[in-house]
Amino acid sequence: MSFLDLDEWLFEVAKFADIVYSPVASDIKDYPEDVDVCLVEGAVANEENLELLYKVRQRTKFVISFGDCAVTANVPAMRNMLGSSEPVLKRCYLELGDKTAQLPHEPGIVPELLDRVRPIHELVEIDLFIPGCPPSAPRIQAAIEPLLKGEQPVMEGRSMIKFG
Ligand code: SF4
Repeated sequence: MSFLDLDEWLFEVAKFADIVYSPVASDIKDYPEDVDVCLVEGAVANEENLELLYKVRQRTKFVISFGDCAVTANVPAMRNMLGSSEPVLKRCYLELGDKTAQLPHEPGIVPELLDRVRPIHELVEIDLFIPGCPPSAPRIQAAIEPLLKGEQPVMEGRSMIKFG
């Protein structure tokens, strides 16, 4: 949502780029082919995340790891301390469940949890990292503005690479 804090600068972005896929800014269900730039937010926690990430990498020229969860796995990776997905599922769906408590198993509907939550660079090649929880609007602009001009952003200094 910090992307929306870019306010009127988003009109500048719109002059150079079409948004072709976004969970919040479009209703397109499948990730398109031949995408120039993708900002991937969030860690990889389940089979669906993994499948989408591979598709994104395959169909995108420049992939950005966007935000601390994508860069380090951050908050979602706290469950890695439990060793696997099993204790998480048992705690949530059995121990804290009601009278009909049961583990979810609906292949194709409920994605299977991976045993470990992973940052995206462990799974696919990344072209740029933009840390932050969330990255601030000025940092996002400073990273993306050069890309729109075909230039590489300079990711140096506290204002650009500090986590949190
Ligand atoms: S704001 Fe922080 S916790 Fe939320 S998705 Fe972004 S990096 Fe993760």
